Amino acid sequence: MLPADTLPDLPPVARRFVRYVQIDTQSDPDSASVPSTEKQKDLSRLLLDELQGLGIEAGMDNAGYVYATLPSTLTPDSTTPVLGLVAHVDTSPDEPGKGVRPILHPNYQGEIIELPGDPSVTLDPARQPALREHLGHDLITSDGTTLLGSDDKAGVAVLMQLAEDLAGSDGPRPEVRILFTVDEEIGRGVDHLDRERFGADIAYTIDGGPVGELSSETFNAAEAIVTVEGVTVHPGYAKGVMANAVRILAEFIAALPADEAPSTTEERQGYYYPHTITKGETGQASVRILLRDFEDDGMAQRKAFLHDLAEALWQQHPRAQIKVEIKDSYRNMLRYIEATDPRTVSFADEAARTVGLEPHWHLVRGGTDGSRLSEMGIPTPNVFTGGYHFHSRFEWNTVQNLEETLGYVKALVQHWGEHGGD
Ligand SMILES: [Zn+2]
Repeated sequence: MLPADTLPDLPPVARRFVRYVQIDTQSDPDSASVPSTEKQKDLSRLLLDELQGLGIEAGMDNAGYVYATLPSTLTPDSTTPVLGLVAHVDTSPDEPGKGVRPILHPNYQGEIIELPGDPSVTLDPARQPALREHLGHDLITSDGTTLLGSDDKAGVAVLMQLAEDLAGSDGPRPEVRILFTVDEEIGRGVDHLDRERFGADIAYTIDGGPVGELSSETFNAAEAIVTVEGVTVHPGYAKGVMANAVRILAEFIAALPADEAPSTTEERQGYYYPHTITKGETGQASVRILLRDFEDDGMAQRKAFLHDLAEALWQQHPRAQIKVEIKDSYRNMLRYIEATDPRTVSFADEAARTVGLEPHWHLVRGGTDGSRLSEMGIPTPNVFTGGYHFHSRFEWNTVQNLEETLGYVKALVQHWGEHGGD
């Protein structure tokens, strides 16, 4: 194993990757600033400088978003939509993101890898079977004390290398808008996006997993706050008077179906996730429950279930009041994609085959920047980056996967260049 940035013979996209991961860009859910951490702009500024150094028209706004434009090579009367490509500069707050030391493990042969900074952090094919599909690859990990930040520095490195390569090429392409966002990991990735400045008609986020994996479906997501107002009284005189909000709330939570929880569902199944007790006193107790479902009907039923449950519990505890407030967070992006430009899906699929990749469409059991962009009228499926085990110290990617991702995104741009006016 070797410190990855000492190796001169890495391909350019991997060289960019090992440079970018060393810049701390962790976002912070507890900060109200924009961006949530000022240090995210360290990378944004570097990307801006590098883009401008390549002669590419680029700018950065106060929030730290970077916008770049590669002009179309098509005839001026082309009807091909403006193609946006998006990656986020921030890394997850779940694990340390400062002082990332990328380590290269050349020509991986299926062995267990102990990371040098913390021997308890091992990459083991018994626990991470995907490692066995990467024999002969040059693995990149952290030293085990931090996350790697392939999520989403892989996307950043791929788009920067793409920009450099396309700037020197006159192959067929529509106008391409590259966008680097901030605070994706804390769910604010497009909160301060200047949509006009971005200017894309359609887009892709480059922020996914295994090579070949594409996504056009995310959960419908909603958040319920259930509040029980109890009746407090001295416990010595409480018979027939007290309504204990703590106890009633506990009954409410216990009545949520145990087989519809994050820990008991997969694939297309939705769930109820009692996430946080936000208050817990006799007089008032409340819980935040996350609702997830791919189908609109399913989500409507989940909301109705909570209201019915509150009603049933109130029948048993008429002295208490039970309030259910539900807010939608984001929606399955597929409906927006299909309504605006379904070619974002079919072209992504076809482009994979032009570079010999078998695409597989994967349901995202969460949301992406693409869900929000799709809702804003810019259909935005998600594209792989080749990385594994995001948000952890076990995170890894490979030199070959980065190159495959770059090759795919180039093919995607070219496919739109060749067929986007059809
Ligand atoms: Zn990401």
